[in-house]
Amino acid sequence: MKLNRVKQSDGQQLNPALMDSLNPSVSRRGFVTAAGIGVGLVAMGPSLVREAKAAESGAKSPRKLEQIKTICGNCAVGCGFIAEVENDTWVSIEPWFEHPINLGSLCSKGAAAREHVISDKRLKSPMKLEGGKWKRISWDTAMSEITAKLQTIRKKYGPDSLMILGSAHHNNETAYALRKFAAFWGSNNIDHQARICHSTTVAGLANVWGYGAMTNSMNDIRNSKSVLIIGENVCTSHPIAMQHILTAKEENRAQIIVVDPRFSQTAAFANKYVRHRSGTDVAFIYGLVNIILKNGWEDKKMIQDRTYGFSNLKEELKRYDPETVSDITGVSVADLEHTARLLAENTPGTVIWAMGGTQHTNGTSVTRSYCVLQLVLGNMGKPGGGTNVFRGHDNVQGATDLGVLSNTLPGYYGLSKGAYKHWSNVWDVDNDWINGRFANEKIQHKVGFTVARWYEGVLMDPKELGQDENVHAAFYWGHSTNSQSQLDRIKTALDKVELLVDIDPFVTTTSILPDRKDGVYILPAATVYEQSGSVTNSNRDIQWRNQVVKPVWESRKDLDIVIDLAERLGFGDKFKKSKNGAWKQLPEDITREWNLGMRTIGMTGQTVERMKRQQEWAHAFDLKTKIAEGGPVDGEQWGLPWPCWTDKHPGTHILYRTSIPVAKGGLGFRARWGVKAPDGNTLLAGKGAAPVDSSINEGYAEMKNWKTDLTGKVFEEAIAKGLAPYGNGRARFNVWTFKDDPVPKHREPLHSPRPDLITEWVTYDDVKDHYRVPTLYKSLQKADWVKQYPLILSTGRQVEFEGGGNSERNCWWLVELQPEMYMEIHPKLANDNRIRHGDWVWVESPEDTDSGPSRVKVKAKITRRVSPDMVYLPFHWGGVMSGVDLSNKYPEGYLPYGMGESANTVTNYGYDRITQMQETKTGLCRIKKA
Ligand code: SF4
Repeated sequence: MKLNRVKQSDGQQLNPALMDSLNPSVSRRGFVTAAGIGVGLVAMGPSLVREAKAAESGAKSPRKLEQIKTICGNCAVGCGFIAEVENDTWVSIEPWFEHPINLGSLCSKGAAAREHVISDKRLKSPMKLEGGKWKRISWDTAMSEITAKLQTIRKKYGPDSLMILGSAHHNNETAYALRKFAAFWGSNNIDHQARICHSTTVAGLANVWGYGAMTNSMNDIRNSKSVLIIGENVCTSHPIAMQHILTAKEENRAQIIVVDPRFSQTAAFANKYVRHRSGTDVAFIYGLVNIILKNGWEDKKMIQDRTYGFSNLKEELKRYDPETVSDITGVSVADLEHTARLLAENTPGTVIWAMGGTQHTNGTSVTRSYCVLQLVLGNMGKPGGGTNVFRGHDNVQGATDLGVLSNTLPGYYGLSKGAYKHWSNVWDVDNDWINGRFANEKIQHKVGFTVARWYEGVLMDPKELGQDENVHAAFYWGHSTNSQSQLDRIKTALDKVELLVDIDPFVTTTSILPDRKDGVYILPAATVYEQSGSVTNSNRDIQWRNQVVKPVWESRKDLDIVIDLAERLGFGDKFKKSKNGAWKQLPEDITREWNLGMRTIGMTGQTVERMKRQQEWAHAFDLKTKIAEGGPVDGEQWGLPWPCWTDKHPGTHILYRTSIPVAKGGLGFRARWGVKAPDGNTLLAGKGAAPVDSSINEGYAEMKNWKTDLTGKVFEEAIAKGLAPYGNGRARFNVWTFKDDPVPKHREPLHSPRPDLITEWVTYDDVKDHYRVPTLYKSLQKADWVKQYPLILSTGRQVEFEGGGNSERNCWWLVELQPEMYMEIHPKLANDNRIRHGDWVWVESPEDTDSGPSRVKVKAKITRRVSPDMVYLPFHWGGVMSGVDLSNKYPEGYLPYGMGESANTVTNYGYDRITQMQETKTGLCRIKKA
């Protein structure tokens, strides 16, 4: 008997999803229970046991299959499933029907989770490059040699000569430990994938209303009446989230509007599809806002009581009349008007975006413009509304929260003296000792290199850098190089560093890109399924992920590797403790440590015990409200989404919602910027605009010491009075601290296909010290690029892969589904260039290498998804560079099943002015038949 199917009398198998639609009064979860599915579950707890019948297995006696609930390690939807294990061998996956996010469904990546563990491409032991050959070595040898070299480099060049590239696949405990490690090492040169996927979202949202995260949830989209999806292909990037969108469409008759330069799979489900020119989102949104205001469709009360700077916004909006917007974006005035009307007539509505919105030179302005739209429509702080930012990797939200970033310590405390003091207090170490680990006081409080451009720290003259020395050692830890643009320059940097360490379950492109004979170590890390810990999905749900099996082969848990490094570098004892005492139970004691310190975002009430209890009571949570009814989890919200101020607080499903009390998850906007703006206007919410039951029925400042009080008293007292610890402020249309764009502006992409627009919609001035490197804008932009490079180059995802695709391209089933790299090209463009489907084509970018333009050789896939003026490349591939197969550089037996050109060899130079996010969605290129 299979657990996920019930036989009907005619012998056909009935899918529970079908039952939902046939009989809406019986939910899928209810049906599963009512049908008696679950027979054979002989023990309760996070790990159940199923007795498979002898007949099923062909064995003489029943097999005992341990059932372990766990969380998918691919994307940030956060789907749950049940892993079946026999004698520490993962034998199968069963649906976890009661999981409130995915209701048992999995996409192809989730369904292939087991392959991450059992793939014969798993790295089996540490390896070292010696005399140009890969040599197997022991862990002890590897760690001794690596730490000895690190000490030498530190002594010679100082602590900032090390760059750590952490991972959005690390669980919260590992992410936190890695950021703590960087502080103990004495450098801010640590960063992870969030820099190149949603850093512009974090900076944008945090500066508008206080927190830089998804405001509502995937489940909450079930409450939406309209869904604007812009720069995101949900079907491909977050497939299981699509079920909530489709439910909104079916149950609420929600209008689904997809805005994208490419007709995606998601567009096929839309009520309305709008094709806009890549990189013109701000102009498009302002076109809508102007139409909304002209017709009086705005939410006047929201604007008056809960926002600041509306007059500044209106001033900027004058430049965006419908005809001008139409000219910039390529969207007709009629389409602009129709879209604006759909959104205004169907509230509450949500806006969903991903990297199509974020990866631009003005990406932070783009994300802020989406916030502008939602504020004007009054869609914030209510079910069915919000800004639903779909994040990428499984724990990219958590790794961001826990500060695996060069611009902040955990909890967005920043790098100030106060921030280091707070964390020294939590870590229970002498603040002076931490300060003394850094090269000097100034550099301790200065943002470090980022994932996007760390390699310039290796390549540029130190005189051009924002630190005294070059980078001489790099750790790539759960991170593929091929997800970063300017891959040619990254390769040159990898050639040059003295020490390169690649830590991953599989051999990555990082190890095989450089042309060198020694100085490279590959360390086998366990997959997410071979270690336990908490993970935060895209909508701030924090779920406990149970370990399925022990680390296979010689792989080790990431946390064990961090601790080993700290010990060998001489600060292990200091590292393995906190104000709570010495670590005894791992990873749980680290959860308790971040519970203690993460006051700013309320990652304080998600105790290990509550997280584990929710797993067992998943069936008690409502799908639309995410609130549990009855049982020990009564009133809790699934995932205890932050802020979850205390261990009694239910979590905050919907940010900035004033229609419920703070004790139940209510909040105003954060009073983050004081009480008065520089122009003298108030930054506190207006009369009556406060959460229900608030003792102050208007705006108020943040509570004193709320960010540093470790006793929890400030939180308890505030909640008792119905107040939010962070105050009750206004959302900002005008972010005066962003000197270039206090109000978001359209700026033509650096590589613009419309040179006639670049003088009016100017790019930024060059920046001398931008995360320790110079960043070019005006001096780089050339109006005549388009003559030689006439096509827009854009990149995106395939459903089978995630990020650099390193794990998935080592899973044979996924590669069988999606075997090769390609370029999407419109039939007209193909015919104009005499290119047939399947032909090899060179794609070349304006950026030169020593040997000419950067270029990749890919197969043509002819499709009308793209317009005739653009080509589109998926970005998950690696192992081939500019037409050269790199197979011979892999250690024997570790060639991935799937290899191909990396799109990021040709993505153009360009970085967001605020966060240094790489521009990969709007470049220029030319094509030639190969
Ligand atoms: Fe769910 Fe994402 Fe995993 Fe697919 S990859 S099963 S959508 S969590």
